[in-house]
Amino acid sequence: MIADRLRERIAQGGPISVAAFMTQALFDPSEGFYATKDPIGAGADFITAPEISQMFGELIGLWIAQSWLDMGKPDPLQLVELGPGRGTMLADALRACRAVPGLLPAIQVTLIEASAALKAVQAATLGPSGAQIRWIDRLENVPPGPSIIVGNEFLDCLPLRQAIRRDGRWHERLIGLDNSDSGEFVFVLGPPLGPDEALIPERLREAADNSLVELRPGDRQIVDLLSSRFADHPGRALLIDYGPAQSEPGDTLQAIRAHRKVPPLEQPGTADLTARVDFESLTGCARDGGLTAYGPVEQGPFLLGLGIEPRAAVLSQSKPGQRSVIARQVWRLTDEQQMGSLFKLVCFDSPGLATPPGFSAD
Ligand code: SAH
Repeated sequence: MIADRLRERIAQGGPISVAAFMTQALFDPSEGFYATKDPIGAGADFITAPEISQMFGELIGLWIAQSWLDMGKPDPLQLVELGPGRGTMLADALRACRAVPGLLPAIQVTLIEASAALKAVQAATLGPSGAQIRWIDRLENVPPGPSIIVGNEFLDCLPLRQAIRRDGRWHERLIGLDNSDSGEFVFVLGPPLGPDEALIPERLREAADNSLVELRPGDRQIVDLLSSRFADHPGRALLIDYGPAQSEPGDTLQAIRAHRKVPPLEQPGTADLTARVDFESLTGCARDGGLTAYGPVEQGPFLLGLGIEPRAAVLSQSKPGQRSVIARQVWRLTDEQQMGSLFKLVCFDSPGLATPPGFSAD
């Protein structure tokens, strides 16, 4: 079991970072939560926007189509999805893209996916689209050229680190074992962060003693890769996730199993582990890298602005028996108490492109 392997590792080498714990729990090749099974959907562990309704992916498809037109119809266009899950968003998006002449033949799809189990699901979901699809493990290996890059709930599962301020200094929060016979996982205070303090969100560096902050090196790495890619070729990225618009202190690591929150250190490998994305640091990092950054905008206003209501009306007309189901889907995706406010979108552009659909220039 992963828990046993983690215990052994800690017993031998001492406490490990939250990031190391998370990496093994989610991506251990033989037993990791993502590596081995398909956790997404109503009957599984958690549900995501594209799995709630086809309308989500269709509107993302229209967004992609408009962006392609704004970019001057590049052919070929590298269309990249980060962490495609079951492949549902892209299948719905590609169907919507059929409405735009020339777009589908120009698209070359690349999926960045760590999970062998989910790659198989993606192949099955996207087979009927007829698109050319390749899987690549890392963003830096996507073929060069103009690109549109999308990702829904990808950044939230990138391993994060945590730090706590004690007597004015930031210490890494680590995971060790307690003294019980079974050796349960517990949080412990580690050594000072030292130069890694630079990874603390700027707004939080002077937070009060005992504050806890989260460091997201994985997000930074993705934004840096976008910056270097978009410096050479026109490109636009749309990242959708949950988290606050401004950096906030606090422990947001959470574990979800079978749609329920469970303690994050309990039975690693059997629950999804995620943490809130810090959109303020993310956009700051994009700007530092020379990109034009838009947002974050909340998911509710974004989908309403892109026309989810007229789309729901058309769908309801073609499936009259589904009218109330469709209305409920719109509510789940857009209502402030549902996904409409906590989930947000940012868009990062190479310099010189028109303002992206659903965002404003200021
Ligand atoms: N976008 C999908 C799935 C979200 S779950 C949806 O909205 O339904 C997160 C996805 O990202 C999974 O497919 C997971 O396997 C993948 N993933 C997470 N970290 C990754 C990494 N470092 N490299 C590649 N894929 C990753």
